[in-house]
Amino acid sequence: MKILVCVKQVPDTSGRLAVNPDGTLNRALMQTIINPDDMNAVEAALKLKDELGCRVSVVTMGPPPAEGMLRELMAMGADDAYLVSGREFGGSDTYATSQIIAAALDTIGLDEDDIVFCGRQAIDGDTAQVGPQIAEKLHLPQVTYAADIKKEGNTITVKRILEDGYMTIKVKTPCLVTCIKELNTPRYMTVSGVFETYAKPMTVLDYNALKDNPLIDKSTIGLNGSPTNILTSFTPPQKEPGKMLEGSDMKTCEQLAGILAEKHII
Ligand SMILES: Cc1cc2nc3c(=O)[nH]c(=O)nc-3n(C[C@H](O)[C@H](O)[C@H](O)COP(=O)(O)OP(=O)(O)OC[C@H]3O[C@@H](n4cnc5c(N)ncnc54)[C@H](O)[C@@H]3O)c2cc1C
Repeated sequence: MKILVCVKQVPDTSGRLAVNPDGTLNRALMQTIINPDDMNAVEAALKLKDELGCRVSVVTMGPPPAEGMLRELMAMGADDAYLVSGREFGGSDTYATSQIIAAALDTIGLDEDDIVFCGRQAIDGDTAQVGPQIAEKLHLPQVTYAADIKKEGNTITVKRILEDGYMTIKVKTPCLVTCIKELNTPRYMTVSGVFETYAKPMTVLDYNALKDNPLIDKSTIGLNGSPTNILTSFTPPQKEPGKMLEGSDMKTCEQLAGILAEKHII
């Protein structure tokens, strides 16, 4: 049994936003972090590894520096990593991204009791489309918003968190699950993990490695294979700081009522 976890390196939104003239993000100029939901997906996989002794592989599509993120995840406990990287993949929207990642997972191979984990959503693109699209393209059953996962034989039972309650679903493997932060608290890297990470295997899957997969076609990947285009990107203006009124006397109450009335709140 193996678990393939799709992880994305995302711009650190607490830092500077750099935008290319065509509206795409200039990721090379921005600080990066591991997408938060993906950390929960990795932790879920490592927990199942602790319990069942399976193999955990981390997979990302991104530029060569994404190797650093994969090494960090192997220092946390993942066994190996796949870096899907090539100029032909640049400019991909979610449709093309999921096409390329699906081809990579298909090339790596999915056996009967394997699971694919994704985060629910990436904090930059924020669409939550990539996981479900990968499942569709690989004809895998999928469960989204996982807040608890249990595996028995070739089925997993997943508790989903919805806006108004929970839903429990039993699904056969191989399948794809998208994970949310309520699932767990990600572990830290260990000192021994940091020492071992550079000895663990890292496979680069470039265009040549994937081009014979039926999902890969120049018309389904990269900018040309992307049905959507970014019109513009910008940093939203900062909100004005809040106003504090101190005191509990009538004058302060009248001042507060005046401000609320001016804003048509009362
Ligand atoms: C119109 C458009 C044009 C774009 N053009 C560019 C561009 O030119 N250059 C560019 O770098 N980006 C571009 N992007 C962004 C890029 O397509 C998205 O970052 C990517 O498709 C993932 O979408 P998302 O961030 O919404 O992920 P979501 O769907 O929110 O992510 C859900 C989960 O899918 C998995 N996942 C998502 N992306 C990856 C990945 N790359 N590797 C591994 N797992 C992943 C993770 O598990 C993640 O938690 C574009 C996006 C759009 C909408």
